[in-house]
This record gives sequence, structure tokens and C-alpha cells, in this order.
Amino acid sequence: MAPRFAAVDVIRTKRDRGELSGDQIDWVVDAYTRGEVAEEQMSALAMAILLNGMTRAETSRWTTAMIDSGSRLDFTDLPRPSVDKHSTGGVGDKVTLPLAPLVAACGAAVPQLSGRGLGHTGGTLDKLESIPGWRASLTLPEIRRQLSDVGAVVCAATGDLAPADRKLYALRDVTSTVEAVPLIASSIMSKKIAEGTSALVLDVKTGSGAFMKELGQSLELARAMVDLGTDAGVRTVAVVTDMSTPLGRTAGNALEVRESVEVLAGGGPADLVELTLVLAREMLAAVGLDAVDPADALADGRAMDAWRRMVAAQGGDPDAALPVARHTSEVLAEADGVLDVDALAVGVAAWRLGAGRSRRDEAVQAGAGVELHAVRGDVVRRGQRLMTLHTDTPERFEWAGQALEGGWSIGGPADRPPLVHARITA
Ligand code: URA
Repeated sequence: MAPRFAAVDVIRTKRDRGELSGDQIDWVVDAYTRGEVAEEQMSALAMAILLNGMTRAETSRWTTAMIDSGSRLDFTDLPRPSVDKHSTGGVGDKVTLPLAPLVAACGAAVPQLSGRGLGHTGGTLDKLESIPGWRASLTLPEIRRQLSDVGAVVCAATGDLAPADRKLYALRDVTSTVEAVPLIASSIMSKKIAEGTSALVLDVKTGSGAFMKELGQSLELARAMVDLGTDAGVRTVAVVTDMSTPLGRTAGNALEVRESVEVLAGGGPADLVELTLVLAREMLAAVGLDAVDPADALADGRAMDAWRRMVAAQGGDPDAALPVARHTSEVLAEADGVLDVDALAVGVAAWRLGAGRSRRDEAVQAGAGVELHAVRGDVVRRGQRLMTLHTDTPERFEWAGQALEGGWSIGGPADRPPLVHARITA
């Protein structure tokens, strides 16, 4: 019988900067999930954690307790080694779409259980759902079959994956306690570890369009997540990558699918191709497949074949025309010079055009978003088309335009930060 504690004692320990015992953590996470610890008590504890932090040992135990609140999938019996990627989310970050089939084409199994987008960064499932017929919900036997046959599955997370996190995340959202590194790291990693992957590559974004805007915070989060994965026996590596300007040239669901298919066809924007290959090489190295060069699989069409099979296995038609928004509006350059474009401004504009949602139950527009005709560092001429805004609801143009005010500029040479800022290993 597990020892029982009083919630007030657990809160007081953390309030007074003490270290919680493993048993206290197991109890409080379990009792909160069952409704025995009240919402106001968990709010107080979350705030104490935000203010006073948690040690690596506390955060590891907290993560395990959240995993143990649900079931943990196991893919060790698959004929391929499993490896997944998680991104903390960025504007135009559609990398999962070309990456999952690319890594599958190189011999690994990619089980990617995702959530839907909330806010300005957009969700992978929303993007894929713009493909006619594609369905996000799969049963566990369907997931296993697809991983064996195709090697990649991107689908909705089952309700039983770290249910404690779902409850706690909703509470953190309304108590201003989202921004605690131990809570963010344990939230993300509990879901990824429960998903059953043997190795994990984390793409931690930094810059205006990222969840973590400062490089120092992003490095801290990356380190905390790598430590948690390592403590749980999952080979984990993180790359901290730039999100001060959008990735690629599109932000919006069907627009991003179209651009991903361009990458799979051997084209696409250079930054998107580069990041896809950086992450693919990390994933393959993490499962001992580093002799395979993913650039070859992109060039010779194997990645495209895997994409087509991945989409078709989930009911999608890879040849179907993608939805197109009913209305467009152009943004033109008002001077000659070098363009700079801010990620957050484009992300918020795409969201306001209908690509994202502000409530979990809201529908998104498949065709809505922002298409960039020029990117940071490009020399542009007055009157040149810089962006096309797409939406089904033209009354949104003005609202989206407001988000873009001050979000791009034409001046001297723009400072181009590196795409990859850092690599964090165990
Ligand atoms: N994403 C998550 O899944 N959890 C967090 O706490 C923050 C971002």
C-alpha cells in the first residue's frame, strides 16, 4: 500500500524550497489525477514549482508518475528500430511531414502520436487533415501494422497516454504556471516516453515564433528534456534551432502540405530541406542506422514512395488536389532593400486568417494561411509581391494585416542567425 500524504504538507515542502520525496511525488500526481487532491491544491503546488523549481531527480520522478497515470506503448517487437522527433512548435514548422516518411524509407519505424494545434504554431494533425480522406484516429493494432508495413505513422494520441498531463496542463493554462521548465519538460516527455519510442530527437525552437523566445531558456528546456529521456532509458538528443523567422515559405495547413511534398519531390526551400536532413541524420544515428544517407532517399524518390504509402494507409489520397482558400490578398514591398520577416507576426497572421484555432473544439480552415514570396535576407524591389494571404473568410484580412504591421521590414542586410544554435546530448 502506497504511503499517503496530506496535500498541504507537499505544497509546504515545495513552498519552503525543499525537495519532494519520490513517494510524495507518486502520491500527489496519482491523487490529483483521481480527483483526491483538489484543483486549488495542485494550483498552489504548480506555482511553488514554478517559483522554486525541481531537481533532476524530482522532475524524473514526476515524469514517471505522469506516464504511470496511463498506459505505455511498447514497440520493441517491431522488425525496425523505433525513433521519433518532437518539435516544441514553430511557424511554418512542417518538418514532420517530409521527415517521418524519409526516416521510414531509411529503415526505422517512426511512431508519431501528435496533438492538434492551439495558438499560432499550428498542429501536424491539422495539416495532414487537409489531405482529402486522411484520418488521424487509428487503433493500436492499426498503428502497429502501419509501423511494420510502411515504417511511419502520424496519428492522434490515444486518450490513455499520460492522462495526468492532460488534466495538469489544462490547470497550468489557467493559473499562469505553464512557463515552468520542469513542468514543460515533464509534460512533453511523459507523452513521448509513454508513446514507446526507443529513441527521440527533440527540436527545441528559439526566437520570436517559438514557445521559448530566449536562447538561454531554450537551452535549459533542451537540457531538462534530454536528462528526462536519458533517465527513462530513451536515447535522447536535442537540437536547438532558430525560429526568429518562419521555416520555409508557407504557414497554414494545406499550404504546408504542398511545400512538404515539394521537399519529398527533391525541391522545396533550402532551410526546410536542411532542417529535415539534420533531424533525419540525428534520428538514424540514434538507432544505429547512420550508414544510410537520407539525402539519397530524398533524391531517388524512396521518401516520396513512403509518404504516399503513409498517407494512403490512413485513408488519404496522395494524388488528390489540396484545398485552396476562396480569397487571397497580396502584401507588396513599399521600398527597395533587404527583407526581414518576423516569425511570430506571420504565425499570428496565419492563425487569424483561419489556419489555427483559439479553442480546442474550433474547426480550422484547410486552405488558410500565409505564403511568402520572399524571405529574410532576400533583396526586394518596391511594388514586388512579398506575401499572399489566403482565407475563406475575407473579413479576416484586416485583422491578419494588423498582425503583420511591424512584422516585416525592408532595410540593410538582415542578420541571419544560424539554423542550428546548439546540440545537446546526454
Ligand atoms: N507542450 C506541452 O505538451 N506541454 C507543455 O507544458 C508545454 C508545451
